[in-house]
Amino acid sequence: MTLNAAPQWRISGEQGQRNYERALRRYPAQAIVDLKALRDNMAHLVDVVGGPNSGTAVMGVVKADAYGHGLVPAALAALAGGATWLGTAQSHEALVLRKAGIGPDRAHILTWLYNGAEAPFGELIENDIDISVGSLDGIDAVAAAARTIGRPARVHVKVDSGFGRNGFTPQIFDAALAKLTRYASEGVLDIVGQWSHLAVADMPSNEEFVAATDAQVENFKAFTARMEKAGIPPRIRHLANTAATLNRPEIHFELTRPGVGLYGYEPDPDMGEPSDWGLTPAMTLQAQLGTVKDVEAGHGISYGRTYLAEEDTSTAVMPVGYADGIHRSASGFNTAGAKGIVHLGGPVRLMTVDGPRIVRVSGRVCMDQCVLDLRGKASELGVREGDTVVLFGPGRGEVYAEPTADDWARAADTISYEIFTCLRNRIPRLYLNADVLPEADRAMLDPESVL
Ligand SMILES: *Cc1c(COP(=O)(O)O)cnc(C)c1O
Repeated sequence: MTLNAAPQWRISGEQGQRNYERALRRYPAQAIVDLKALRDNMAHLVDVVGGPNSGTAVMGVVKADAYGHGLVPAALAALAGGATWLGTAQSHEALVLRKAGIGPDRAHILTWLYNGAEAPFGELIENDIDISVGSLDGIDAVAAAARTIGRPARVHVKVDSGFGRNGFTPQIFDAALAKLTRYASEGVLDIVGQWSHLAVADMPSNEEFVAATDAQVENFKAFTARMEKAGIPPRIRHLANTAATLNRPEIHFELTRPGVGLYGYEPDPDMGEPSDWGLTPAMTLQAQLGTVKDVEAGHGISYGRTYLAEEDTSTAVMPVGYADGIHRSASGFNTAGAKGIVHLGGPVRLMTVDGPRIVRVSGRVCMDQCVLDLRGKASELGVREGDTVVLFGPGRGEVYAEPTADDWARAADTISYEIFTCLRNRIPRLYLNADVLPEADRAMLDPESVL
């Protein structure tokens, strides 16, 4: 018997069990995504904006393969939770959603990132995908494609209210309005929305940041006034990301765009924990140990000798590394090591005969693997090759002692977003609770991925 630090997964039946076993054979790590958690997180976010009839719709932001959770399954779970919009940065992903079978009767889709010289605008228009425009060249390119297709393009005008990334600045906006009004009256552009993005809404304890967000809101409203004056009032205004959806109800407007909240995380630990906001992390990353062995005190562990065994101990190979998206910055150093400093490596939940304990990545994260110092003898702990460990999951309380992506973000000096988004697709994605999806939607999932 191997020890298992993961929960007893609620597998639906024989097919699910076969899929689980196949995934274990295929790869020594699995990302298990709970579709019910995704669905419930979205339902909660819809509640937060006042429910389905509040006048504020919710977009599930599913860019970057749904932050690593799997584009189509996460999009379907978001729809099951009451999202009526989906959003992707890359236009390719917007097209994938339509091709998977999510039609315009199910969801509006907005895409906002492209190289205007080469973008598939015609295909986007034909597939009823809303397009963001934030440059003068972009307006011309979208209008030209709409003219060719013979159908108006639905556009959302991106304004730079202070984020300093995409969108029109106030200085150039008159030139944009001149083009937009001309194309709108020609009937090639349907000006659906006006939108912008917030830079620092996720740190409510920082007064300067709160003031900067206030200023962005004022700038946003000034852009709206200019559109109204030009005769192209936006029907749908949207500014709020997860942070502002949760903590700034006054700027929900007609649509909000939560991303990380759908996956169950608060945007920044400055806002507290996911549970403070009614959110549950949807992904668990687990792995099966490779070689487990005893090493003597003073033994160097992994590249660079940044960690030396402090006492006689056992180590275990965890067979995922930076080629899987495990951050090398989550390596573990100790004072005995070559750097002479302590850096806590990424935390891992390990099961022992005495119950669960947290061990840490010890020494440098390698390409395909890292090493855990078990801080004890494997034979006494009952730890063996093949045991399942958990890198992160929903948290499941103090007693359960399960790390979250926020804990890995701390170890890797980054944000939770990067922890799950970086996970490579060679790690199988497996889906729990597919029964929260309507039957027709379940048919859109890869049948081998359903537990
Ligand atoms: C990623 C993104 C969002 C979602 O942000 P979260 O912090 O994940 O809620 C919203 N709008 C735009 C433009 C984005 O790029």
